[in-house]
Amino acid sequence: IFGAGRKNSKGLNMNIQSEAKPFFKALEKYEQQQWHAGPLIDGETVSGTVHDVLSPYDTRQKVGTIAFADEAAIEQAIYSAQRAYPSWCRTSVEERANALQKLADLLEENREELIALCTREAGKTLQDGIDEVREAVDFCRYYAIQAKKLMAEPTLMPGPTGELNELFLQGRGVYVSISPWNFPLAIFLGQITAALATGNTVIAKPAEQTSLVGYRAVQLAHEAGIPKSVLQFLPGTGATVGAKLTADERIAGVVFTGSTETSQRINITLAQRKCGIVPFIAETGGQNAMIVDSTALPEQLVQDIKDSAFTSAGQRCSALRVLYVQDDIAEGIIEQLKGAMDELQLGYPGAFKTDVGPVIDTTAQTNLNAHIDKISSTGKLIHSVNLTEECQHGHFVAPTAVEINSITQLEKEHFGPILHVVRYKAKDIDKVVEEINSTGYGLTFGIHSRNESFARELADRLNVGNVYINRNQVGAVVGVQPFGGRGLSGTGPKAGGPHYLFRFVTEKTRTNNI
Ligand code: NAP
Repeated sequence: IFGAGRKNSKGLNMNIQSEAKPFFKALEKYEQQQWHAGPLIDGETVSGTVHDVLSPYDTRQKVGTIAFADEAAIEQAIYSAQRAYPSWCRTSVEERANALQKLADLLEENREELIALCTREAGKTLQDGIDEVREAVDFCRYYAIQAKKLMAEPTLMPGPTGELNELFLQGRGVYVSISPWNFPLAIFLGQITAALATGNTVIAKPAEQTSLVGYRAVQLAHEAGIPKSVLQFLPGTGATVGAKLTADERIAGVVFTGSTETSQRINITLAQRKCGIVPFIAETGGQNAMIVDSTALPEQLVQDIKDSAFTSAGQRCSALRVLYVQDDIAEGIIEQLKGAMDELQLGYPGAFKTDVGPVIDTTAQTNLNAHIDKISSTGKLIHSVNLTEECQHGHFVAPTAVEINSITQLEKEHFGPILHVVRYKAKDIDKVVEEINSTGYGLTFGIHSRNESFARELADRLNVGNVYINRNQVGAVVGVQPFGGRGLSGTGPKAGGPHYLFRFVTEKTRTNNI
């Protein structure tokens, strides 16, 4: 699927003893490890205001420290990245691609440390950590191959005899990459590697909650051969580091993944700059629905609802937020769903048995619980999973399902393990489609139906970027399900798809009267 030169990211089958044992043994080494990180300017860790990093699973456990970038570090990063651009831009695409291939190998070699970091700093379950590293590896390899396809040779254009007309693609300059905490390695590196492969230099601002993962990833990128001045790392808050970077006239483009609200703020900042229209790629939030009709297969459906709504504690942009279920089958499905929810294992994310870990921080926990209280008082609480004693020191939110009347009752995305259920009558399907489209979000949409023409028609009518029929609606695979939304959910292009890199380059025509 990646074309020539593809190598699969390493999977892990935990049912095979010979694979599982060494993996768990290797993880043990990182159970007590402390990581200390800060801004990486030209490859040197510089000082800044130091913050403790605490585990979302148990806030009494320290994971390490992170120093946030100050004004001097920001200035130095921009200065160096700008100076490094002309030479990186003229480095052959093969050389740039080779460094990304090497980075993919290094990620795999350091898999256990990266998974341990994802578990301890971001509260990811083991399975999510494994998938995270695999996705990061896939991004490196996919963009390496795509960049060569796109940029190795200029396009020869027709012209009069004696004249050579060539169309080239070039990087644009210094790109700022701003990423979220929910994919601290995969999205972080996906953005960076796309910009680097196409000949841009990069200043990476990780989410403040997951800066340690970002730091290790940048160190590995340098080790893989990305010149140190070409990739700078600036941890810090969005309001300080992020806002300062996006407002700077020397920044040629911004690639962002995060909430719709932040993308709108950045868009305003970019519009106020004086140096011209700044390319902006934004992948943002969703209000993702699933429609289930009476022909759906209940056992498969309930498993897919559970996976779509509660995997990663609902902290996936693609996660199912609103389930529309046809009234004829609603009662039975809701009963089965309650049972399936009770099977969810909550607890230590580094344990093999755990399905649902904590949410990222106190703010998220407080907001989600407030939403559960509010929506349960206007709607009807279906079920809430009991939190065990193990969850009392962390940012846990009980996976919850609540019945409401319409998706239009929700003003914004609620980024956690909360499923809203709406019953609909078959005759009202047009209204349902209209309601979902009226939210303005357009990320993922799921359908469960054995009526092929009904499913296809819905897939056409819903204004979204990714449609999933008769399966769960999370976990897009690089190079297989190019991912991204429209409307309030993003600008496109689709990450992990064949058109993504094109948005990081500019075109130049060279006409030579030989
Ligand atoms: P967020 O709060 O919008 O933050 C995203 C990034 O933007 C962080 O690095 C943040 O810095 C930074 N930021 C905040 N304010 C800024 C400003 N004024 N200028 C520049 N940068 C600024 O989002 P999040 O909570 O990290 O992530 C969850 C959101 O991401 C959800 O809405 C989810 O749906 C979305 N998401 C979308 C996709 C997709 O592919 N469509 C994928 C994953 C996640 P801080 O460190 O200060 O927060």
